[in-house]
Amino acid sequence: MRDHMLRAVTRCGHFRAVAALTTGVVETLRKLQGASPVATAALGRAITGAFLLASEFKGRERVVLQILGDGPLQEVYAEAAADGTCRGYVRRPGVDLPAQDGKLPVGEAVGQRGTFTVMKDLGLREPYRGVVPLTTGEIARDLAYYLLHSEQIPSAVALGVYSDPCHTVTAAGGYLVQTLPSATDEEIDQVEENIRGMPLPTDLIRQGASPKEILRDALQGFELKFLEEKPLRFHCPCSRDRVAGALVALGSKELESLVQRNERVDIRCEFCGRPYIFSPPQLQELLAQAAERP
Ligand SMILES: [Zn+2]
Repeated sequence: MRDHMLRAVTRCGHFRAVAALTTGVVETLRKLQGASPVATAALGRAITGAFLLASEFKGRERVVLQILGDGPLQEVYAEAAADGTCRGYVRRPGVDLPAQDGKLPVGEAVGQRGTFTVMKDLGLREPYRGVVPLTTGEIARDLAYYLLHSEQIPSAVALGVYSDPCHTVTAAGGYLVQTLPSATDEEIDQVEENIRGMPLPTDLIRQGASPKEILRDALQGFELKFLEEKPLRFHCPCSRDRVAGALVALGSKELESLVQRNERVDIRCEFCGRPYIFSPPQLQELLAQAAERP
Protein backbone atom coordinates (compact mmCIF):
# COMPACT_ATOMS: atom_id res chain seq x y z
CA MET A 1 0.00 0.00 0.00
CA ARG A 2 1.40 3.42 -0.95
CA ASP A 3 1.75 6.12 1.71
CA HIS A 4 -1.38 8.22 1.91
CA MET A 5 -3.80 9.87 4.29
CA LEU A 6 -7.56 9.93 4.30
CA ARG A 7 -9.96 12.31 6.00
CA ALA A 8 -13.46 11.59 7.20
CA VAL A 9 -16.29 13.28 9.07
CA THR A 10 -19.18 11.61 10.82
CA ARG A 11 -22.55 12.17 9.10
CA CYS A 12 -23.81 13.74 12.35
CA GLY A 13 -21.04 16.32 11.97
CA HIS A 14 -19.81 15.84 15.54
CA PHE A 15 -16.41 14.33 14.82
CA ARG A 16 -13.73 14.67 12.21
CA ALA A 17 -10.78 12.37 11.74
CA VAL A 18 -7.77 11.64 9.59
CA ALA A 19 -5.53 8.58 9.37
CA ALA A 20 -2.15 8.31 7.65
CA LEU A 21 0.09 5.54 6.43
CA THR A 22 3.70 6.84 6.34
CA THR A 23 5.93 3.75 6.25
CA GLY A 24 7.74 4.68 3.02
CA VAL A 25 8.28 8.31 4.01
CA VAL A 26 9.68 7.40 7.43
CA GLU A 27 12.05 4.82 5.93
CA THR A 28 13.29 7.47 3.47
CA LEU A 29 13.88 9.90 6.36
CA ARG A 30 15.73 7.23 8.34
CA LYS A 31 18.14 6.65 5.46
CA LEU A 32 18.67 10.35 4.72
CA GLN A 33 19.34 11.15 8.36
CA GLY A 34 21.30 7.97 9.15
CA ALA A 35 19.00 7.82 12.17
CA SER A 36 19.09 5.26 14.97
CA PRO A 37 15.90 3.32 15.74
CA VAL A 38 14.86 5.66 18.55
CA ALA A 39 15.67 8.79 16.51
CA THR A 40 13.71 7.32 13.58
CA ALA A 41 10.75 6.63 15.87
CA ALA A 42 10.77 10.22 17.16
CA LEU A 43 11.13 11.74 13.70
CA GLY A 44 8.58 9.37 12.17
CA ARG A 45 6.00 10.19 14.83
CA ALA A 46 6.62 13.92 14.37
CA ILE A 47 6.36 13.70 10.57
CA THR A 48 3.15 11.69 10.80
CA GLY A 49 1.78 14.23 13.28
CA ALA A 50 2.70 17.08 10.93
CA PHE A 51 0.87 15.33 8.07
CA LEU A 52 -2.23 14.91 10.24
CA LEU A 53 -2.13 18.63 11.10
CA ALA A 54 -1.77 19.52 7.42
CA SER A 55 -4.57 17.23 6.26
CA GLU A 56 -7.01 20.07 5.56
CA PHE A 57 -4.44 22.42 4.03
CA LYS A 58 -4.83 23.87 0.55
CA GLY A 59 -2.53 25.53 -1.99
CA ARG A 60 0.84 26.48 -0.55
CA GLU A 61 -0.09 26.12 3.12
CA ARG A 62 2.34 24.21 5.33
CA VAL A 63 2.99 23.32 8.94
CA VAL A 64 6.15 22.97 10.98
CA LEU A 65 6.30 20.94 14.15
CA GLN A 66 9.38 21.67 16.23
CA ILE A 67 10.16 19.84 19.44
CA LEU A 68 13.00 21.15 21.60
CA GLY A 69 13.55 18.80 24.51
CA ASP A 70 16.09 18.16 27.26
CA GLY A 71 16.64 14.59 26.01
CA PRO A 72 19.71 13.53 23.99
CA LEU A 73 18.02 14.03 20.58
CA GLN A 74 17.83 17.77 21.42
CA GLU A 75 15.54 18.71 18.54
CA VAL A 76 13.02 17.00 16.29
CA TYR A 77 11.77 19.05 13.33
CA ALA A 78 9.01 18.04 10.93
CA GLU A 79 7.52 20.01 8.07
CA ALA A 80 4.48 19.02 6.00
CA ALA A 81 2.88 20.84 3.09
CA ALA A 82 -0.60 20.89 1.59
CA ASP A 83 0.62 18.94 -1.46
CA GLY A 84 1.41 15.87 0.67
CA THR A 85 5.17 16.42 0.81
CA CYS A 86 7.30 16.53 3.94
CA ARG A 87 10.84 16.82 5.21
CA GLY A 88 12.40 16.72 8.65
CA TYR A 89 15.47 16.15 10.76
CA VAL A 90 16.67 15.16 14.19
CA ARG A 91 19.46 17.29 15.69
CA ARG A 92 21.39 14.22 16.91
CA PRO A 93 20.22 11.30 14.74
CA GLY A 94 22.97 8.97 15.97
CA VAL A 95 21.72 8.91 19.57
CA ASP A 96 20.68 5.36 20.29
CA LEU A 97 18.78 4.20 23.36
CA PRO A 98 17.91 0.52 23.68
CA ALA A 99 14.32 -0.69 23.67
CA GLN A 100 12.76 -1.34 27.09
CA ASP A 101 10.24 -4.19 27.21
CA GLY A 102 10.15 -4.13 23.42
CA LYS A 103 9.36 -0.40 23.28
CA LEU A 104 11.73 2.31 22.13
CA PRO A 105 12.08 5.01 24.83
CA VAL A 106 11.05 7.93 22.62
CA GLY A 107 9.99 10.07 25.60
CA GLU A 108 13.39 9.66 27.20
CA ALA A 109 15.21 10.43 23.93
CA VAL A 110 13.14 13.58 23.27
CA GLY A 111 12.91 14.67 26.91
CA GLN A 112 10.06 15.67 29.18
CA ARG A 113 11.04 19.29 29.52
CA GLY A 114 11.14 21.75 26.66
CA THR A 115 8.81 23.23 24.10
CA PHE A 116 6.42 21.84 21.53
CA THR A 117 5.88 24.41 18.81
CA VAL A 118 3.51 24.37 15.86
CA MET A 119 3.93 26.94 13.10
CA LYS A 120 1.30 27.18 10.38
CA ASP A 121 2.01 29.14 7.25
CA LEU A 122 -1.47 29.75 5.88
CA GLY A 123 -0.48 32.46 3.42
CA LEU A 124 -1.38 35.25 5.84
CA ARG A 125 0.99 38.09 6.60
CA GLU A 126 2.20 36.43 9.79
CA PRO A 127 2.45 32.65 10.24
CA TYR A 128 0.38 31.26 13.10
CA ARG A 129 2.56 30.05 15.99
CA GLY A 130 1.44 28.02 19.02
CA VAL A 131 3.79 26.86 21.78
CA VAL A 132 3.07 24.56 24.70
CA PRO A 133 5.45 22.99 27.21
CA LEU A 134 6.57 19.47 26.41
CA THR A 135 4.74 16.98 28.62
CA THR A 136 5.82 13.40 27.87
CA GLY A 137 8.14 13.66 24.86
CA GLU A 138 6.18 10.76 23.37
CA ILE A 139 4.91 13.18 20.69
CA ALA A 140 1.34 11.84 20.21
CA ARG A 141 0.34 12.92 23.72
CA ASP A 142 2.21 16.19 23.33
CA LEU A 143 0.34 16.86 20.09
CA ALA A 144 -3.01 16.12 21.78
CA TYR A 145 -2.00 18.45 24.63
CA TYR A 146 -1.11 21.16 22.10
CA LEU A 147 -4.43 20.77 20.23
CA LEU A 148 -6.43 21.00 23.45
CA HIS A 149 -4.54 23.87 25.09
CA SER A 150 -3.47 25.94 22.11
CA GLU A 151 -6.28 25.32 19.59
CA GLN A 152 -9.00 24.34 22.12
CA ILE A 153 -9.92 21.18 20.20
CA PRO A 154 -10.24 17.97 22.24
CA SER A 155 -8.33 15.41 20.17
CA ALA A 156 -7.20 11.83 20.35
CA VAL A 157 -3.86 11.23 18.65
CA ALA A 158 -1.99 7.99 18.01
CA LEU A 159 1.36 7.85 16.20
CA GLY A 160 3.72 4.95 15.71
CA VAL A 161 6.83 3.68 13.95
CA TYR A 162 7.90 0.06 13.85
CA SER A 163 11.33 -1.11 12.66
CA ASP A 164 12.54 -4.62 11.97
CA PRO A 165 15.75 -6.00 13.58
CA CYS A 166 17.81 -4.57 10.67
CA HIS A 167 16.35 -1.11 11.53
CA THR A 168 14.27 -0.90 8.33
CA VAL A 169 10.96 0.84 8.99
CA THR A 170 8.23 -1.68 8.19
CA ALA A 171 5.21 0.15 9.59
CA ALA A 172 4.53 3.81 10.36
CA GLY A 173 1.40 5.87 10.63
CA GLY A 174 -1.20 7.29 12.92
CA TYR A 175 -4.55 8.92 13.32
CA LEU A 176 -6.23 11.98 14.78
CA VAL A 177 -9.86 12.14 15.93
CA GLN A 178 -11.29 15.53 16.87
CA THR A 179 -14.44 16.25 18.84
CA LEU A 180 -16.49 19.19 17.63
CA PRO A 181 -18.51 21.29 20.09
CA SER A 182 -21.82 19.73 18.97
CA ALA A 183 -20.86 16.21 20.18
CA THR A 184 -22.89 14.78 23.07
CA ASP A 185 -21.34 13.15 26.14
CA GLU A 186 -22.63 9.72 25.04
CA GLU A 187 -21.03 10.10 21.63
CA ILE A 188 -17.74 11.18 23.19
CA ASP A 189 -17.85 8.15 25.54
CA GLN A 190 -18.45 5.91 22.52
CA VAL A 191 -15.44 7.29 20.61
CA GLU A 192 -13.22 7.10 23.69
CA GLU A 193 -14.22 3.48 24.16
CA ASN A 194 -13.51 2.73 20.49
CA ILE A 195 -10.04 4.23 20.74
CA ARG A 196 -9.24 2.53 24.05
CA GLY A 197 -10.01 -0.80 22.41
CA MET A 198 -7.80 -0.21 19.37
CA PRO A 199 -4.41 -1.87 18.92
CA LEU A 200 -1.35 0.37 18.36
CA PRO A 201 -1.34 2.03 14.92
CA THR A 202 1.78 0.06 13.96
CA ASP A 203 0.06 -3.21 14.90
CA LEU A 204 -2.91 -2.26 12.71
CA ILE A 205 -0.64 -1.31 9.81
CA ARG A 206 1.43 -4.48 10.16
CA GLN A 207 -1.82 -6.43 9.92
CA GLY A 208 -2.47 -4.63 6.65
CA ALA A 209 -5.08 -2.12 7.85
CA SER A 210 -5.56 0.88 5.55
CA PRO A 211 -6.23 4.43 6.78
CA LYS A 212 -9.88 3.85 5.81
CA GLU A 213 -10.12 0.80 8.06
CA ILE A 214 -8.38 2.64 10.90
CA LEU A 215 -10.95 5.46 10.63
CA ARG A 216 -13.79 2.92 10.64
CA ASP A 217 -12.38 1.34 13.83
CA ALA A 218 -11.90 4.68 15.59
CA LEU A 219 -15.40 5.87 14.72
CA GLN A 220 -17.25 2.58 15.01
CA GLY A 221 -20.98 3.15 15.55
CA PHE A 222 -21.03 6.31 13.42
CA GLU A 223 -21.87 6.70 9.78
CA LEU A 224 -18.82 8.11 8.01
CA LYS A 225 -18.39 10.37 5.05
CA PHE A 226 -14.94 9.89 3.54
CA LEU A 227 -13.27 12.97 2.11
CA GLU A 228 -10.24 13.29 -0.12
CA GLU A 229 -7.33 10.88 -0.07
CA LYS A 230 -3.86 12.39 -0.40
CA PRO A 231 -0.66 10.56 -1.42
CA LEU A 232 2.31 11.34 0.85
CA ARG A 233 6.01 11.57 0.01
CA PHE A 234 9.33 13.09 0.99
CA HIS A 235 10.41 16.17 -0.91
CA CYS A 236 13.03 18.76 -0.06
CA PRO A 237 12.58 22.10 -1.86
CA CYS A 238 16.14 23.25 -1.10
CA SER A 239 18.10 24.90 -3.92
CA ARG A 240 21.40 26.65 -4.49
CA ASP A 241 19.59 29.99 -4.62
CA ARG A 242 18.03 29.43 -1.21
CA VAL A 243 21.36 28.42 0.35
CA ALA A 244 23.03 31.47 -1.24
CA GLY A 245 20.20 33.61 0.15
CA ALA A 246 20.83 32.20 3.62
CA LEU A 247 24.54 33.02 3.30
CA VAL A 248 23.75 36.60 2.21
CA ALA A 249 21.38 36.85 5.18
CA LEU A 250 24.32 36.11 7.50
CA GLY A 251 25.45 39.66 6.77
CA SER A 252 28.64 41.32 5.56
CA LYS A 253 30.66 40.69 8.71
CA GLU A 254 30.18 36.92 8.71
CA LEU A 255 30.72 36.65 4.96
CA GLU A 256 33.83 38.82 5.17
CA SER A 257 35.42 36.35 7.58
CA LEU A 258 34.52 33.44 5.25
CA VAL A 259 36.08 35.27 2.29
CA GLN A 260 39.25 36.05 4.27
CA ARG A 261 39.76 32.36 5.01
CA ASN A 262 40.03 31.87 1.23
CA GLU A 263 38.59 28.36 1.42
CA ARG A 264 35.60 26.86 -0.26
CA VAL A 265 32.50 26.49 1.90
CA ASP A 266 30.75 23.16 1.80
CA ILE A 267 27.14 23.27 2.99
CA ARG A 268 24.98 20.18 3.23
CA CYS A 269 21.20 20.48 3.37
CA GLU A 270 20.21 19.17 6.80
CA PHE A 271 17.01 17.68 5.36
CA CYS A 272 18.16 15.84 2.23
CA GLY A 273 21.96 15.90 2.46
CA ARG A 274 22.39 17.60 -0.93
CA PRO A 275 25.80 19.37 -1.04
CA TYR A 276 26.17 23.04 -1.97
CA ILE A 277 29.70 24.24 -2.55
CA PHE A 278 30.77 27.90 -2.73
CA SER A 279 34.25 28.81 -3.99
CA PRO A 280 36.11 31.89 -2.66
CA PRO A 281 35.17 34.01 -5.76
CA GLN A 282 31.51 32.97 -5.34
CA LEU A 283 31.66 33.97 -1.67
CA GLN A 284 33.14 37.30 -2.73
CA GLU A 285 30.12 37.81 -4.99
CA LEU A 286 27.72 37.01 -2.15
CA LEU A 287 29.62 39.47 0.05
CA ALA A 288 29.05 42.17 -2.60
CA GLN A 289 25.32 41.32 -2.55
CA ALA A 290 25.22 41.48 1.26
CA ALA A 291 27.01 44.85 1.20
CA GLU A 292 24.34 46.24 -1.18
CA ARG A 293 21.58 45.37 1.26
CA PRO A 294 20.24 48.20 3.39
ZN1 LIG B 1 17.43 19.67 0.86
